[in-house]
Formats: sequence, structure tokens, C-alpha cells
Amino acid sequence: MQYDVIVIGSGPGGYVAAIRCAQLGMKTAIIEKYNTLGGTCLNVGCIPSKALLDSSEHYHNAAHTFTTHGIKLDNLGIDFGQMIKRKQEVVDANTSGITYLMKKNKIDVHVGVGSFKDKNTIIVTKADGTTTELTTEKVIIATGSKPSSLPFLKIDKKRIITSTEALTLTEIPKHLILIGGGVIGLELGSVYARLGAKVSVIEYMDSIIPTMDKALGRELQKVLKKLGMDFYLGHKVTGATAKGKEVTVTFDNPKGEKQELKGDYCMVAVGRVAYTDGLGLDKIGISVEERGRKITVDEHLETSVKGVYAIGDVIKGAMLAHKAEDEGTFVAELIAGQKPHINYNLIPGVVYTWPEVAAVGFTEEQLKEAGTKYKVGSFPFKASGRARASGDLDGFVKVLADATTDEILGVHMIGPRAADMIAEAVIAMEFRASAEDVTRASHAHPTYTEAMREACLAATENRAIHI
Ligand code: FAD
Repeated sequence: MQYDVIVIGSGPGGYVAAIRCAQLGMKTAIIEKYNTLGGTCLNVGCIPSKALLDSSEHYHNAAHTFTTHGIKLDNLGIDFGQMIKRKQEVVDANTSGITYLMKKNKIDVHVGVGSFKDKNTIIVTKADGTTTELTTEKVIIATGSKPSSLPFLKIDKKRIITSTEALTLTEIPKHLILIGGGVIGLELGSVYARLGAKVSVIEYMDSIIPTMDKALGRELQKVLKKLGMDFYLGHKVTGATAKGKEVTVTFDNPKGEKQELKGDYCMVAVGRVAYTDGLGLDKIGISVEERGRKITVDEHLETSVKGVYAIGDVIKGAMLAHKAEDEGTFVAELIAGQKPHINYNLIPGVVYTWPEVAAVGFTEEQLKEAGTKYKVGSFPFKASGRARASGDLDGFVKVLADATTDEILGVHMIGPRAADMIAEAVIAMEFRASAEDVTRASHAHPTYTEAMREACLAATENRAIHI
């Protein structure tokens, strides 16, 4: 079969690239090694984790905040099997939605492992070992990533697990030991903490979510401590072993003293690595970076082989679904002869704990390091009428603006619905708005978004109204 474009991998990068190519009139095929489409994000990432976050949040509220709203419940309990079943139903609805979109856009789906025979020929190997050859003008590699580990840890997938297994447990852990205080670990850690597990987080750096603005990590840690989570920051894990139902994790404290924790599950959440196994990259001479085995691309996301592009987690940059999607659209439009653009500085990062954490642009630490003169405006949710009404008083919005021009350089928020609210900051910054511009736009009352306007007022001559 001859195609204009073949996309390898059906995650948010791959399926979006395929749809945009088809929209632009290209004969398109997508190859996926699993039976369901949607990649990490839909099957074992964004969507199932959010389904469990929502379910566990309902339980937590029923157990802890309903009484303050005057709602009484008797015999509150958890049917964990149903929670996991619902999560799977959410996943199935989403993945079959992608199958529908492939049909609607007349994209051929080939199930099997895709590998290069040459730069214009892809071999698809099905689970039963049979193969098909497809030929194409262009190829888009979107093979994503897999969980990484520490060299001395053996992940047995039963007691010492990754995020993938944490989404399909058959029981609520009694004591979950989390190695890594980044986004994925904290999201799933908070799921189980809300359901009653003791959760201990061991993090090598001196703060959680260490790549985000430091103020966010400090506030999130405070909130998660209230949820009962324990933190061992600046601690270095040296080993983890499982014996029967017991896991022992050993680590050094900042003074180098040996410590250990015992639990029933240990989740390793120390990041993800690019996935290129089986692609046969070396057959056509595609270069990969030394560290992380990420595929090297130029500013057009073209690999070292002309006509072969790569997008999403398998290349440099943030490992986020929306970054992969944007790159999918970018490459499709580029192949079609358009001049697309991605502003990599304005890709928001979100942590779906409660309160949610969301940020875009430069952190305060980055501005300091670059010697940029900036102003800070901050507004706490405890001063927001909307947050008072819902009882979500933790967190704040922090706006960083250029000291001279007032252009917004970074927005960092932790609070209710921050994941949705960050869109206002992204749009404002995409149009290079000043903090003053945001203050002049009407914000409905009462809404959480008023906190963004108030933070912008605070950044422009300290004019916040409600503090
Ligand atoms: P992937 O989604 O990884 O898809 C790659 C696909 O390629 C896979 O289906 C794989 O089977 C297939 N494949 C690989 N090799 C081959 C081959 N040779 N032949 C055929 N098929 C192949 N990001 C967010 O933005 N928001 C979130 O809330 C969020 N939550 C997350 C929660 C968890 C627990 C995890 C693990 C990740 C989360 N992420 C989140 C990250 C997000 O899932 C990834 O950034 C995103 O899926 C990357 O998309 P991708 O298209 O590059 O690759």
C-alpha cells in the first residue's frame, strides 16, 4: 500500500498528526502496536489517572468536607473494584473515540509493530508474526516513552511498580512508598492518600515538583502534608526489595545516614525515557541523543533523515500530551507546505492534585538567574469569594511581569481549577499582554479566575482590591 504519510504510534502526538494530515488531503496511515489507540495518555496516563483522581476526590470530600456543607452520610465506604472498573470504562470510551476519528478521517489503522525497512518502506509485524509492507512519501515517528527506573531497582510490577501498575491495583495500599516527588508520582500518591493509604514520598531534590517555581512546591507540600503524606526531601534511594507482601526501601538522608521504610507497595516515579525499541532506527541512520535515547530533530522536527519526522515524548522537550499534539499539528502543516509555529516557552505544565497546580512561562528562579528585572503580584485564594463559597482556601496565583514593560513573563498558580484557569494566562502571554491588560478585562464574579485579575492588579502598582 502506498501512502503520503505514515504515522508510527497512536498517542496524542500520532493520532493528532494523522488527523491533521488527512484534513490536509494526504493519504494517511497510522501504525499502533497495541489493540487500542490513544497511546500512553489515553490508556495508562492522563485519562485513567484523572479518572481515579476524580473518584478519590469524591470519596475524600464525602469523608471530610460534606459535614461542613450540612450533608450527612451513613456507612460511607469504598468499592475499589468499581472505582477501577469505572476508570477502565472511561479509558475504553476515549480510545474507541479515537477509532471513530480514524474512520471519520479515512485514516488506515494498521495494528502491529512498525519498523523501517528503508526510509520509504515500513514493515508492520502483527502479534502472530505476520508482516505487511507499506510504502510512503513521509514518516512521522510518534512512539512516545516508557517509565524509567534507577539502575539498581528491579521493578517486579507486583509490589515494586510503575504508574502503569498503580492504575490497575486490586487493593488500596496500606503504605505506599513513592520514589520521586514529580507530577506523576504525586498525582497517583494523592489518589491513594485520599483513599486512606499512608503515603511516603522520597525525593532526591530538596523540593517536590522541582522543575516548577519553588513557591508552588512549598505550597503543594503543605497541602499534601495535611492529607497525611510524609516527605523525605534531599534523600537518596539506594535500594528496594520485595519479600512476600512487604517492600523495604533503603535510602540515605542528607547527612549520608542510612534509613529504611517498610510498606506493601513501592511506586517508582523517577521520570520517563523515549521509546524507540523495534523501530530499526539504525537501519536508516536516524540519530538519537546519547542520554535518554531521544530522537534528534531540527527546528522543523525533521530527523537526520530527510522526510522522516519525530514528535512528542520521543524527542526533546516537555513530556506532555498537549506538547505532543501541538507538534503533531505542526509537522502535518509543515508537510503540507504551511508555515506553522510552536511557542515552546508557553506550554503550560499542570499537576492534577487538589488543589491543582498550573504554570506557564518563566519561573521566578529562572528570571533571577537571567538577571531579568521583574515585578511580582500575588493573590491568595483565601481572599476569593468563590473559593470561600466552595471551601477551597489553599493556594495562590503569582504573576511575574517585566519591571519596565509590564509584559507578563510567567504565571504560577496553585488552587481550585488551576488546570483550567492557566488557559487565560497562556492566551494573554501568547498575545504578549501586560499585567495591566488582564486587569482591564472583565472577569465574571464570583469565579476563581478573579484571582488571576487580582494577581495582575497586585503586579501593577500593588492595586489588588480584595487584599
Ligand atoms: P505516547 O502517548 O506514549 O504514544 C506512543 C504510542 O506509540 C504508544 O501507543 C505505543 O504503543 C506506540 N508505539 C511505540 N513504538 C511503536 C512501534 N514501533 N510500532 C507501533 N506502535 C508503536 N501529560 C499531560 O499533558 N497531562 C497529563 O495529565 C498527563 N498525565 C500523565 C499521567 C501518567 C500516569 C503518565 C504515565 C503520563 C502522563 N502524561 C500527561 C504524559 C503523556 O501521557 C505523554 O506526554 C503523552 O502520552 C505523549 O504522547 P506521544 O504521542 O508522544 O506518545
